[in-house]
Amino acid sequence: MTLSVAAILAESALRRPEHPAIVSGSRKITYRELWDGARRYAAVLRARGIGPDDKVALLLPSTPHFPLAYFGVLALGAVAVPVHALLRAEEIAYVLRDSGAAALICAAPLLAEGGRAAETVGTPLLTVMEEEAEAGVPGRQLDVLAARSAPIDRQVPRDPADIALVLYTSGTTGRPKGALLTHLNVVMNVDTTMLSPFEFTADDVLLGCLPLFHTFGQICGMNTCFRAGATLVLMPRFDGPGALDLMVREGCTVFMGVPTMYTALLEAAGADPRRPALDRAFSGGAALPVAVLDAFRETFGCPVLEGYGLTETSPVVAYNQKAWPLRPGTVGRPIWGVEVEIARAETADRIELLPAGETGEIVVRGHNVMAGYLNRPEATAEAVVDGWFRSGDLGVKDDAGYLTVVDRKKDVVLRGGYNVYPREVEDVLARHPAIAQAAVIGLPHPVHGEEVCAVVRARPGAAPGPELGAAITAWSRERMALYKYPRRVEFVDAFPLGPSGKVLKRELVARFTAEGPH
Ligand code: ATP
Repeated sequence: MTLSVAAILAESALRRPEHPAIVSGSRKITYRELWDGARRYAAVLRARGIGPDDKVALLLPSTPHFPLAYFGVLALGAVAVPVHALLRAEEIAYVLRDSGAAALICAAPLLAEGGRAAETVGTPLLTVMEEEAEAGVPGRQLDVLAARSAPIDRQVPRDPADIALVLYTSGTTGRPKGALLTHLNVVMNVDTTMLSPFEFTADDVLLGCLPLFHTFGQICGMNTCFRAGATLVLMPRFDGPGALDLMVREGCTVFMGVPTMYTALLEAAGADPRRPALDRAFSGGAALPVAVLDAFRETFGCPVLEGYGLTETSPVVAYNQKAWPLRPGTVGRPIWGVEVEIARAETADRIELLPAGETGEIVVRGHNVMAGYLNRPEATAEAVVDGWFRSGDLGVKDDAGYLTVVDRKKDVVLRGGYNVYPREVEDVLARHPAIAQAAVIGLPHPVHGEEVCAVVRARPGAAPGPELGAAITAWSRERMALYKYPRRVEFVDAFPLGPSGKVLKRELVARFTAEGPH
């Protein structure tokens, strides 16, 4: 049996050749053009000795070069290794070394870091241009070579268990590890989620504001959209007003984003009365406060469906679906063919399942679980126990099988012997009229071990400072148990965000631990 991620694009190019696959600025690229271009990239790579199972790293922002390179690599039977576009040279060099990449395809604007990394490791470099070829750019220019090459005839067949992608975990909680995803992992997740929850049809238009190097934007966004033959509107750098404008202008029907993007869109909608004709919106990657979900549904007039996934599970595990009664605050039920259970978090070496209603570690089994971590047999053995993937997240299932993500195990704050789940506190804080966004962290405390601290971005018009901090503390105290409410409140103008737009809590912890209470 053969199965290939490249077929996602190839099939849609057969079925809907003249339909726009991508909108990028003023450019529209049809499915025929995109597949043709990807096969030209493949021809250049093949001429440079790249073949099945070779790894090719991609350091590319969300421009058409990303899908061209990605599907070009996959069409050769090689393995795509997308690299986070914001990484520094040293971090990129780590990925190049760890993955043993046979080449790096790098966008010209990212050459300062990417070129240096390739040189350090000795990885051959191919450059792609944003615009017309710029003089003096090092490395061979992939676009120029591709324009002169004939497309490869057909994609190299692959077995379902062959590796298609190495996706590095974004390192929110530690050093990046390369998750090995097979063709089966990716194709199954794409096919399953395209039907439900995403319900993509060929006439949908999706805003592609999630970065394509991250699993959410790449597999849920780009691949699922291409599988349906729908249109992806690329947005290389997200900002609320820009996203709202682009969705209106391009007639987007679907929005997909992380919670920080929902907050930014709501703020933008306060200043811009236009609304896109959205049919549905999908949230994932971090907890979406119910207050934000409700506000978005009212403002944009479409259902907001929250789901849960991880890089290691290709990525979708569970989602709310339009067809089911919506349970805001939960991430819905497992997608088709995937089992989700709650296991005792303390038992590391075996899986001890807990009944509904009990909180424990979320464990996942099914077609979406990665083949392992590259070069890390011990980390793989710790993560996958008896076929179950241990997510590192705490959760609870209700009687109807809906899953609630309680928090990351590592983010739980231990205050005076009590567990405080930051997510629960954040959900309450999201209802405070002066708070635009809040992240709750634990900071070292001499008596309680840790103290609960709310890091807050105030709404425009609210004056951040000790007075507002004290008011938030008093307001929280009325709504939460004594051990939970944030006794310390710090203000920021902007949150440090990871590559996919999630708040980097460990940076907040480091900053406010160093600063001490005011
Ligand atoms: P790391 O690099 O530390 O593994 P990450 O955030 O970089 O973390 P991803 O694979 O990008 O890794 O994201 C997976 C994580 O995102 C999950 O383990 C979970 O903690 C969080 N997450 C995803 N969806 C949700 C959700 N709906 N609610 C709460 N958390 C979520």
